[in-house]
Amino acid sequence: MTTHSNSNVEAAIYGRVSSDAQAQEQTIESQVADIRRKVSQDKALLQDKNCFLDDGVSGSTLHRPALERLRDAAYVGQFQRLYVHSPDRLARKYAYQVLIVDELQKLGIELVFLNRAIGASPEEDLLLQMQGMFAEYERAKIMERSRRGKRHAATRGSVNVLSAAPYGYRYITRREGDGQAAYEIIEEQATVVRQVFQWVGRDRLSIGEATRRLTKSDTVTATGKATWDRTTVWGMLKNTAYKGSAAFGKTRTGPRRPQLRAHRGNSKTPRRTGSTYDTDTSEQLSIPVPAIVSSELFDAVQTQLTENRQRGHESRRGAKYLLQGLLECSKCGYAFYGKPVSRTSAKGKVRSYAYYRCIGTDGYRFGGKRVCECKQVRTDKLDEAVWNDACELLRHPKLLRKEYERRLAAPSDSDSVASIKKQVASSKRSVERLIDAYTDGVLDRAEFDPRLKRARDRLAKHERQLQTLESESREQSTLRESLSCVDSFCESVGTNLESADWTLRREILRTLIDNVVVEPDQIRIVYRINFPLFAKKTSKNGKEKVLHFCWRSAHRTLGRPYGCS
Ligand SMILES: [Zn+2]
Repeated sequence: MTTHSNSNVEAAIYGRVSSDAQAQEQTIESQVADIRRKVSQDKALLQDKNCFLDDGVSGSTLHRPALERLRDAAYVGQFQRLYVHSPDRLARKYAYQVLIVDELQKLGIELVFLNRAIGASPEEDLLLQMQGMFAEYERAKIMERSRRGKRHAATRGSVNVLSAAPYGYRYITRREGDGQAAYEIIEEQATVVRQVFQWVGRDRLSIGEATRRLTKSDTVTATGKATWDRTTVWGMLKNTAYKGSAAFGKTRTGPRRPQLRAHRGNSKTPRRTGSTYDTDTSEQLSIPVPAIVSSELFDAVQTQLTENRQRGHESRRGAKYLLQGLLECSKCGYAFYGKPVSRTSAKGKVRSYAYYRCIGTDGYRFGGKRVCECKQVRTDKLDEAVWNDACELLRHPKLLRKEYERRLAAPSDSDSVASIKKQVASSKRSVERLIDAYTDGVLDRAEFDPRLKRARDRLAKHERQLQTLESESREQSTLRESLSCVDSFCESVGTNLESADWTLRREILRTLIDNVVVEPDQIRIVYRINFPLFAKKTSKNGKEKVLHFCWRSAHRTLGRPYGCS
């Protein structure tokens, strides 16, 4: 596409950098500077409102605030030419690039890429991306159309885009409501909502106290439970629907958050590759619904919540407990959390320690009945035991390094990933062919059923293999990260581990340890790596993943005892 040098063209620019790329790649400033230079060379007009910048936003989704505004502006003809550094700034996926370019060109907007003219070599592009591209494009188009469609409906204030109603309302579906969905107040529940808002906004109660009162009052939750929990009440108090404006687009998906240990009952590498993120209030659209509380009361509640939070957090801002997030109960699988000694149990003395408690032992979290009987553990003793263990490990940095390197040197499985992917595709095709053959009458039912079952089993097997390989390669990258950490630890710590301050200790432990299982009278530290020197015993079932097995030093086969409260 050629660039014209007419000076009356209204130009717009789009820039994006993802948050993790900023270090190695360019910053948004340098990107914008390049683009602006080109705009002024072309003598195009550029107004501030036509600068669309997504700073620190991933290109793997089209759900980006600035891009969203850009597409809206393009739709109303706010500019005629768009300058972008390169197509991958628009989107990382080719299908998304095509989608945006397609959309803008249909609106008559000229696209200028700095480093390459679009379609400079269409053959090359097509050949490279042919496979799977059309399928990907179609899928992307459908998903985008429905997402953008919903957004437009939300701008018009249509309740149709909200899929359900919160406690206090009944959701009238589109079919019930003659094409228009709506919220209808359930008076009985609305009274409860008003009461909760008054408790916090007027009587200045804490969420905990409001929750207790609710449970005592014999009111059941939206799902029919007799006990309320704080999260539910908190969510209620934050929900703007109650003051008459329901928010649309409160969350979006993004890259998966790093996770310290597997959550209770989940595997370490979950199927979902993304995480859900809360969006900024400015990105949300509000849809009018019938109000249950006045906006004055709603605002009073928000002020009170902020105040409560400040009061609660002032003394313990940031992390406080060394092993927070690493401890797991061997009995019930819930995590342990740190809890200071209460004033009554301290009996007037100043205690320099706190306790780690299993979440399962807190009755209030489980409707008044604790699910675990394990004892709490003194923080100072447990911290010390785990830290000493890790020190022993760190005093052998060479071994540590060697072991990491050996693991990293394992043959890369990118080839096998590709070949398994091919097998998955071919199994899928054979399933489809079988179904076609059956529909066309080539196969009869008796032949069809067993063959379909076999083909499906094969497909499932290959998909499982692929999943395993992919999770292994994710583990490899974790390992690579750990390796660089080990280096910097050993460098900064040297031989004098005892001088490491609390923050450094915490960092070291979180890097080396996968989790610490607290058993009734011992702890089991599961390191992320296997040490031939120390690991005289491998894991009990021998089937545990190589990277996660328990390291126990030779002279203490049962792990490490610790002080019990
Ligand atoms: Zn427990």
